[in-house]
This record gives sequence, C-alpha cells and structure tokens, in this order.
Amino acid sequence: MVLLKLKGIKMKKYFNLLLISLIFITPQCVQKKSKKPETMLNEIGSGPNHYGVEDFKKIRKIDVHAHINSETTTMINLARANNFKLLNMAVDVDGHNYPPIKEQVRIRSFLQKQDSDVMAFGTAFTLDGWDEPDWSDKVIRQLKSDFDLGAVSVKTWKNIGMEAKDKEGNLIFLDNPKFDPIFKFIESQGKVYISHAGEPKNCWLPLDSMTVKNDFDYFSEHPEYHMYLHPEMPSYEDQIMHRDNVLAKNTGLTFIGAHMASLEWSVDEATKFLERFPNANLDLAERISHTQYQSQRNREKVRDFFIKYQDRILYGTDFGEDDTTDPKELEKYMMEVWQNDWKYFNTDEMIAVPQLDTPVQGLLLPKDVVDKLYRLNAERIFPDAWQ
Ligand SMILES: [Zn+2]
Repeated sequence: MVLLKLKGIKMKKYFNLLLISLIFITPQCVQKKSKKPETMLNEIGSGPNHYGVEDFKKIRKIDVHAHINSETTTMINLARANNFKLLNMAVDVDGHNYPPIKEQVRIRSFLQKQDSDVMAFGTAFTLDGWDEPDWSDKVIRQLKSDFDLGAVSVKTWKNIGMEAKDKEGNLIFLDNPKFDPIFKFIESQGKVYISHAGEPKNCWLPLDSMTVKNDFDYFSEHPEYHMYLHPEMPSYEDQIMHRDNVLAKNTGLTFIGAHMASLEWSVDEATKFLERFPNANLDLAERISHTQYQSQRNREKVRDFFIKYQDRILYGTDFGEDDTTDPKELEKYMMEVWQNDWKYFNTDEMIAVPQLDTPVQGLLLPKDVVDKLYRLNAERIFPDAWQ
C-alpha cells in the first residue's frame, strides 16, 4: 500500500512533466487554436467517437467493486463529486477491518438509506456451522432478510477453495453440493452472484516471474498466501475448475467473476470463459494492470477483446474504507486510480502506471463501449440498484 502510494506520487510528477513538455513543444498549436494550453491538452484522444480526459467528471459512471466497512462517507462523497455510483459489497473476510457479515450488512443498509443516489449494496454469508445439516437453510434465511433490506448481490470470497475447511480438515470447494440450494435461491430471487475465486495466476508463480508490481509486493509480504510456496495446496487450474463447475451447474444464474474471474493474465482465457458461459460477466477490479501488461505486448488484441465483450465487462476498483482510513489519503488514491483508468480506456496517451515498469498506451475505446463498461452493463445487471 505504501509503495503503491509512493509510486502514485512519482506517477503524478511524470504526468506533470509530460504536460509541461507538451505545452512547450507545441506552442504553434496553442496559438492557432487560441485556446488555453490546458484545454488543448485535454483534447488528446477525444473527438466525436472518443471521450477525453476532460470528460471524466461529467460522464455518469458506476464502480461495481467497493467495500465501505464503516459509517464514514469519504468514498460516497468523492463518488458523488465525480459522477460515480458504487456497489458496496459485503465479504466473508475474517479480520482485516471487516466486521462480521451481519454488521457489514447493517452498515451498508444504513449508508444506502442515507445515500441511495450513489450507493447500492451486496451481501455475503459465512461458512460458520458448515458441518451442521441445516447450514444451507440458515444461509438462505439470512440472504432472504438481506434482500428484503435491499441487497442486490451475494459475494463469495477466495476463502472458499483456499482456506475454509470442514470438520474433517478438508478444504471446502465452491462446487460442493451444499452450495447448490443457495445458488438456486439467489437465481430465484433475481439477484446477482459475484465470485472472487482463487487468486491472480501470479500467486502460483515464483516472485521473479510475476507480471505486475502489486502482486510482487503483496506476495513478498505475505508468503503464507503465495501458493508457489505451498505446492500441497490446490493449483490455479483447480480453483478455476471448481468455480467453472458452479457455472456449468447453474446456467440461469447471473454471474460476475470479480477480478476478471481470475483470468486476468490472458484475454484468450477470458474469451474462452465468456464464450462457454453466456450468463457470466467480468469485473475489472484490481486487475487492470494485468490487462495493461498484456496490452504492452499486443495492444490491438486487448482492444479487440474489450470491443468484442463490451456487454460483459464492468468497471470496478476494489477501493476500501473503514474507521482507520485517512480520508485525504483515500481521496488522493481514488482520484489517481480512477483518472488513470479513464485515460487508459479512453485515450491513446502513453500512461505511467505504478504497477508496471514502463508506460502503457491507452486503448482509445469508442464512447459507446466505454459507456457500457462504465455504466450501462451495471444498470442492466442491477436494474433497481441505484435510485
Ligand atoms: Zn474486493
């Protein structure tokens, strides 16, 4: 986190330098157009078919992957100021400033009543009592009451498949039949199932083979989660298989694969996945750098992927807020990420990103594709979420 923020600052300096040098390199343009230099610069990459940097604030947007775990409103206020709406998801995380799920839902429902123009929320469930015969029924009762409060989605986390065990000490996998009635219930209520299954593929690679710095930093600091060091644990392919089994069993379930469904390392694999499961969608949270790594190697291929699957991809960040968050730091970080992502999708500028050693060229996606990624797909999948 600290590293990331430091690099963020460097990145900003890089942009300032870039802007200054452009101002000095192209004075004749400035004169010809008789516009303020800033205005001209803002038009890089924009035109009738593309948004520019200056459009960021005015275009309506949705960030479908946020976690607000306290009755604080830094994220909500900044979202409102920048024309964003949020989906604030509960998660079955033990600790890390995540309160128990019941309290997570209470906080989310409270915030939603207060700021329903900006924030919708999703619920989750715990595996407590897994070995009891009525575990699934209890979960369904809880979900019913959370839906009554306004929850629009249910999320499962990577603890399923990577951490949680039954009383015999066996890992619990997502395709365990005990989950079946729960998925059926979610589908019957017209709600959305969001799955964070597994980890980025980098988690199963040695540190020096990892593609992005955020993964390198995280797994350097958390060897306990670095699966390359734990060959006794299920493989990357195992995690994907168990998740895919759920989709094969529940073809009517509206599904969002959080973090690009852990297929962030290959648009070819993501393509196969989307072709195999017509009700599946992807969110981009915390995996845009993996996409950028690929577009540094084959920009057209990545651009074609976004255009081809423009109806199935949702913008999201994974921003988090709790009682311990410094509001100023959070605001600064959110603006850097939101604006950098916007530049990547909308312009063809060279962009320095903190997770990569060298700049990446923006994808210059057409406006109608960006509108889907940033809003229309979320509005279609969550029709009554934001008022
Ligand atoms: Zn998340």
